[in-house]
Amino acid sequence: MKLDSMYQDVILDHYKHPHGRGLRQGDAEAHHVNPTCGDEITVRVRLSGETIEDVSYEGQGCSISQASASVLNELLVGKDLTEAQRIQETFLELMQSKGRVEPDDAMEEVLEDAVAFAGVSKYPARVKCALLSWMAWKDATAKALSEGKTA
Ligand code: ZN
Repeated sequence: MKLDSMYQDVILDHYKHPHGRGLRQGDAEAHHVNPTCGDEITVRVRLSGETIEDVSYEGQGCSISQASASVLNELLVGKDLTEAQRIQETFLELMQSKGRVEPDDAMEEVLEDAVAFAGVSKYPARVKCALLSWMAWKDATAKALSEGKTA
């Protein structure tokens, strides 16, 4: 697998120096696995109204899956849910592009370090690695919101 070296450095840096790793207090969590690669992630979210106060996580697996969780933490903590959803949808669009989307400035502004995963979108098996923590985050957020309503 050959990635643009700058992008590869960003991914490896997040893998070696993960942001916000470790599980902390939260409203809800989701555990997702990617059996084709052996990746696992638990994502826990803490909301304050519409604001994401924290996204904590713990997991194991390949560098792409773990770096992606670190990028997710960096991008989403402190954002409101509407903005976070826009970021998640943009990332999903990039990852489902099969390498056809060349990130432009507008996309880079939304995704920041997450544009580094652009090269990964060419490898269908690795796309699941990159999306694992994002799907777990979406799941955990949905749980947190539905529990909030019933509380
Ligand atoms: Zn993986």
